[in-house]
Amino acid sequence: MLCRRYEGVVSSHFRHLPYNSGRPLSRCLFCDNGNWRNTPFRHQLHGHPPQNPLDEGRGNTLNMFIEQPARWLRWLYPHALWRMSPDEHSVYLTFDDGPIPEATPFILDTLDKYGAKATFFMVGDNVRKYPELYEEVVRRGHLVGNHTYHHLGSFKHFTLTYAVDVIEANALIKSKFFRPPHGWLRHTVYWWVKRRYRVVMWDLVTRDYSKWLTGPDVLRNVQRYARNGSIITFHDSLKSIDKLHYALPRALEWLKNEGYEFKIFKEGD
Ligand SMILES: [Zn+2]
Repeated sequence: MLCRRYEGVVSSHFRHLPYNSGRPLSRCLFCDNGNWRNTPFRHQLHGHPPQNPLDEGRGNTLNMFIEQPARWLRWLYPHALWRMSPDEHSVYLTFDDGPIPEATPFILDTLDKYGAKATFFMVGDNVRKYPELYEEVVRRGHLVGNHTYHHLGSFKHFTLTYAVDVIEANALIKSKFFRPPHGWLRHTVYWWVKRRYRVVMWDLVTRDYSKWLTGPDVLRNVQRYARNGSIITFHDSLKSIDKLHYALPRALEWLKNEGYEFKIFKEGD
């Protein structure tokens, strides 16, 4: 069973691991189209060290689907961007839910330190409250995207309500890029949104928002799942910022050492 999880970067990923016999792996067996129950076994076989207690047994499979969405999920929104070209040694950093004064300035300074540009999917109401932060993000050369005005979950609201919220947010954010809060869109909403915006999902969720994870866990998620063309999701939020103080500079350092370029989306992507 072949897997696409680590294609492109797999040799650098596995070089130092004890169970790798030295032959270059073009495919990792840590995959989403095989037998789920075999995953922890294959995981060990290929030398991934156990990462944290949640990685053992079933928890592993479950987390894996959150951190790196499976192909069937990607098929639900086929026109959305999930991953950029696997031929480029680049990653696309994204930050959701800001801007807020407790998190965004730290993130901006850290990105500057590593010469990295990122995309900020902003909540309209935060832009209203902190317009100077919005301006600062734009001034430093980052891209902004729409994340609705009130961080609406699509399934709890009528299509019209949701559409109005997106339009209101766009009056402040002014972007062609959109990311749905919680990563889900009712299909009627999806078709409405996709005619007007480029929908950006992700290839890797760091889960920096999770109260069960620590800064080192977040860093390990980046190290484990980042690959060519990955769209990586962090959050500039109160839930994530403690973990980002630890994980963000180290993740940027690691990505840079792995030779990744940091890119932002372009019109036409
Ligand atoms: Zn969000």
